[in-house]
Amino acid sequence: MHVLEIDGVSFSYGSTLALDSISFSVDKGDLLGIIGPNGAGKTTLFSCMLGLLGGYRGSIRIFGEDIKKNRKVFQKIGYIPQKKNIDRNFPATIEEIVSLGITSSRKDKSYKERILSALETVGLSSLQDRRIGELSGGQQQRVLIAKAIVNDPELLILDEPATGIDLETQNKFYALLRKLNGENKITMIWSSHDLDAVNKLATGVACINRSMFFHGQTHEFFENPDLLKAYSESSMQAHMHMHDHH
Ligand code: ADP
Repeated sequence: MHVLEIDGVSFSYGSTLALDSISFSVDKGDLLGIIGPNGAGKTTLFSCMLGLLGGYRGSIRIFGEDIKKNRKVFQKIGYIPQKKNIDRNFPATIEEIVSLGITSSRKDKSYKERILSALETVGLSSLQDRRIGELSGGQQQRVLIAKAIVNDPELLILDEPATGIDLETQNKFYALLRKLNGENKITMIWSSHDLDAVNKLATGVACINRSMFFHGQTHEFFENPDLLKAYSESSMQAHMHMHDHH
């Protein structure tokens, strides 16, 4: 059984076709990198997978269950959205933020231990009483990962921001992804604009540009000059369109 199976999924915002018949599957232990230019439909695809957008055609199965029929499967998923800057004065503590990731049915005795263990995994033990607004951007991102893993998800979905993180923070973040996938055995779907990182970390690649442009093993994508060229041309075009609008 696949962890995730997307079969012929299409989605339109009014007359804008954002996803055109996307199909792929993810198996246990995979770390799938999703790449595609701005406006390619990555966020839309994630929103469909997370049950936030219901009006798609085609089917999405998670652990064999159609997500429109069985919403319980979402309890097995952790989601890390693109990081927004958190106000320096936002009063919640790290512990409070991470506790939001625990579903009510699992708020048992080991509650506190589970929060501490998630913070330890992301390398933030000892900071549980600090306010989230006091942390650096990279640390805040780790808190959001702790919140996503505190429920022991079997699948982690991660929408990576394109910019705004320094190289050292980024490398730590990638090391953490590798650990979660390798040691903690969490299956992962990760959208990224960083092709080098995808090449180093991902077991497979799905490249979308409204429709599926490529899906296969990481090396098949990165060893194919024609695919790389087509990808960089479409990214460049999306980039220029963005600037047209400004
Ligand atoms: P990505 O995450 O790859 O940048 P998105 O999923 O955000 O792409 O967007 C895919 C397409 O859908 C784009 O053309 C975008 O303009 C359009 N789109 C996204 N969200 C909306 C919305 N809420 N209403 C209308 N169009 C949208």
